[in-house]
Amino acid sequence: MIKVEDLHRHFGAFRAVDGASIEIAKGSITGLIGPNGAGKTTLFNVIAGRLPPTSGRVFMDGEDITGLPPHELFHKGLLRTFQIAHEFGSMTVRENLMMVPAAQSGETLWNAFFNRGRIASEERALRDKADEVLDFLTISHLADQKAANISGGQKKLLELGRTMMVDAKIVFLDEVGAGVNRTLLNTIGDAIVRLNKERGYTFCVIEHDMDFIGRLCDPVIVMAEGRVLAQGTVDQVKNDERVIEAYLGR
Ligand code: ADP
Repeated sequence: MIKVEDLHRHFGAFRAVDGASIEIAKGSITGLIGPNGAGKTTLFNVIAGRLPPTSGRVFMDGEDITGLPPHELFHKGLLRTFQIAHEFGSMTVRENLMMVPAAQSGETLWNAFFNRGRIASEERALRDKADEVLDFLTISHLADQKAANISGGQKKLLELGRTMMVDAKIVFLDEVGAGVNRTLLNTIGDAIVRLNKERGYTFCVIEHDMDFIGRLCDPVIVMAEGRVLAQGTVDQVKNDERVIEAYLGR
């Protein structure tokens, strides 16, 4: 589904991504791991149109999507989750979901959400959709809470929920488990698996928690120093000498 060919992203003389080539198969939950500074987030940002590459190409279903802006990728069903921005904290969880389609499509957010002319039926449909998403994620009880007041793990679920407000095909998740307790991490993992199996989502997940990666991801791609070091099942990469060396440090 996604093919990245010899991608480079340099910052001055520093090669954050230094010739990475990866493939993400349709229907997979692909893990992306590697020590801090390996270039994982930078690679995500280039694929998702947040950063232009220095060189290299990105293809989606055979189409060259290199350098397309996020809202165009969004229309193709490629989404990258992002943290709930500070200014949306005062909106409720449901409202955060309801504004996704308009916000992501490039419409001015405030116009989109507060446009008095927006017809009631459209708003009702968005509300129903948001409630359906909250139900799927088992967080219906949070619908009317302010987004700023929910826990870190619940925010991660909300981020995942935002991808469900539109027809995502592939979702890039950055550090789903960071600072999330074990119970919620399992809930997030279950939601990812269900989205994958029941709705056909393809995922690419950056995560440090190896139990989580092991439970969810096949294959796992290991990056170090801007390059792909190894790829395989979790057990294969865990036992790969080069991977062990990269983690244990030079
Ligand atoms: P990872 O996600 O694997 O931890 P990153 O992609 O975040 O790695 O970072 C890779 C390297 O690129 C790091 O050393 C980081 O400091 C550097 N880097 C990332 N973004 C920038 C930037 N905007 N300017 C300069 N250096 C950057």
